[in-house]
Amino acid sequence: MYYSEDTIIALATAPGTGAIAVIRLSGKEAIATTAKMFNPRDKTTDLTRVASHSIHLGWLVNGGEIVDEVLVSVFRNPRSYTGEDVVEISCHGSRFIQESIVQLFIDNGIRHAEAGEFTLRAFLNGKMDLSQTEAVEDLIDSQNKVMRDIAIKQMRGGFSNDLQNIRKKLVHFASLIELELDFAEEDVVFVKREDLLQLVDESIRYLQPLITSFQLGNAIKNGVTTTIVGAPNAGKSTLLNALINEERAIVTDIAGTTRDTLEEVWVIEGITFRFIDTAGLRETSDTIEKIGVAKALEKVAQSSIYIYVFDASNKTVSGVISELKTLPRDIPHLIVANKSDLIPESVVQNIRNSELQHYSTTGEILFISARQAETASVKKALLQLIQADALQSGQSIVTNARHYEALSRAKQSLETVKQGLRNNLSGDLLSVDIRQALDAIGSITGEITSDDLLGNIFKNFCIGK
Ligand code: GDP
Repeated sequence: MYYSEDTIIALATAPGTGAIAVIRLSGKEAIATTAKMFNPRDKTTDLTRVASHSIHLGWLVNGGEIVDEVLVSVFRNPRSYTGEDVVEISCHGSRFIQESIVQLFIDNGIRHAEAGEFTLRAFLNGKMDLSQTEAVEDLIDSQNKVMRDIAIKQMRGGFSNDLQNIRKKLVHFASLIELELDFAEEDVVFVKREDLLQLVDESIRYLQPLITSFQLGNAIKNGVTTTIVGAPNAGKSTLLNALINEERAIVTDIAGTTRDTLEEVWVIEGITFRFIDTAGLRETSDTIEKIGVAKALEKVAQSSIYIYVFDASNKTVSGVISELKTLPRDIPHLIVANKSDLIPESVVQNIRNSELQHYSTTGEILFISARQAETASVKKALLQLIQADALQSGQSIVTNARHYEALSRAKQSLETVKQGLRNNLSGDLLSVDIRQALDAIGSITGEITSDDLLGNIFKNFCIGK
């Protein structure tokens, strides 16, 4: 990744017509080039001399021709998004004007920016680490409050700081172990193995919840595919309708949501639950009879979670269990006893205390009357299934598959280190595994591990030779 020195320009707002548009420049020539074409309202203004973070009204001119009336914002390095001199030109939002302005700058030696190049520069200039640049993208893509909050948290540091701490400590140990190797003949030990073990344990304890959080993070980002399954007449369609009807008001708020997609989606506290093949589910009793249990099972297998519904007024516990045995237990699922309005409390208690509860991921049976639209407990349990309580606890949530993958690799390597320590593995082999964990962690924040490792050895020990 080479850092280019040239000055770049791009439209920062969405292409198309708007009240205004913003065009952004970054690089050494950004201010001087703008100044050449800027005719300030206040004749005493000289853009090349104005203070950083100041805004100036004037005309952008091309020779004798006025291109537009604009506002020019000036940010001087390093106090800008990219860390370079940045100019933002707010112009009128006609496509023609936007294109004319960009072209004018290109004619004056400015290069059109590549996709993501401003943020790349911000990273290369140390304004943010790699995971933060990814959070910027997530923020721009955020569709709801939850997604926004997670992106902002990560942009402001999130788990980066903790990862950096872990890395620092691991680098320290790795350097000491490598130092031992230099002194192999003298048989010195710079690293107490129990200290390393403790650090490895601590690190794993930190990484594990982040790794686990990806289930929720992924659900937040991509929606949770959900199936409602159960015997004909259990009340699946009724439950589905009750859930969708309640959430419709919220769903319609999302711009561009068509009626079709709207009916396949619930948004509960910012998390989108999507149905697999809703049409089929809608006419469940017929369809399931027709296409058979196999088809239903196929749908269940494709979903992230499922809701198993049975008619509590018309089913024995053993009948329910034999149905449940045909369903995958490793996919998170709820067990809903429907039509509770038709059964006495004693039957509720019997079912509740039966072995049935052990078949549910949440460890309980939800009694509802779908017909009376009693869906609160189902919604709560759905959120519980994807561990949405992490949202309340303020824990960092990993939404990025790359981070998840790297965190998992880091943890794996640390487990190997742990195993190695237990087996009294030699320092050189231990250091290989620590380096692997470092690589994985470093890949999240975008640091280069081997240079760090060397730097750390020299920093902490004056070897002097
Ligand atoms: P599906 O075949 O599983 O989709 O079941 P439906 O949703 O079509 O419901 C089957 C029948 O049970 C319909 O007549 C519903 O009105 C009725 N039903 C559904 N939920 C309840 C409930 O909570 N209480 C009662 N009493 N009837 C219900």
